[in-house]
Amino acid sequence: MPENRKTQERLDPRKPLVFDTREVGRRPGSMKRLRRPVPVPEDLGLDLVRVPVGTTLELDVRLESVLEGVLVSSTVSVPIEGECGRCLEPFQDTVDVDIQELYAYPDSETDETTDEDEVSRLQGDFLDLEPALRDAVVLALPSNPLCRDDCPGLCPDCGVHWDDLPPEHSHDVADPRWAALQSLQDPGRGSQPK
Ligand SMILES: [Zn+2]
Ligand SMILES: [Zn+2]
Repeated sequence: MPENRKTQERLDPRKPLVFDTREVGRRPGSMKRLRRPVPVPEDLGLDLVRVPVGTTLELDVRLESVLEGVLVSSTVSVPIEGECGRCLEPFQDTVDVDIQELYAYPDSETDETTDEDEVSRLQGDFLDLEPALRDAVVLALPSNPLCRDDCPGLCPDCGVHWDDLPPEHSHDVADPRWAALQSLQDPGRGSQPK
């Protein structure tokens, strides 16, 4: 008794990011709001910034039946951690992530006129929010993360954080090694015998 006309990979309804759309029904305009805690998918992030492993997201999802399928929308607050792009100090922050994704009904016009990678599909009565969540989170991550907006970064000469240096900090000539080098290059300057 095969019920799916198309042979599709079946979604596991026990997975936290798989939603059952039967409660929404297929009458356009009907709507269902679902709240559920979900463990964050693994490896979610970029080089300098990521969602901490083991984070639980409080998902508040709206499923809305539309002509061509089920529209899913959600705004979720996502904790992030990373290293500052200027001073490399670890930092933590939170980003708000908006998700809006259409899951087309099998055999709808959308299903027949778009490619799989253009529009998501319902699989039977289920939809998998994980790919949409991943894409939305990665888009929301700062590409140049900073520990704070006005982080002054590190002194390029000694690598010490500018916060920890006096305002007059400078490497101009004050460094005896540089003075010695300069006197080698230009013996007429700065190295008069005492
Ligand atoms: Zn910083
Ligand atoms: Zn310095």
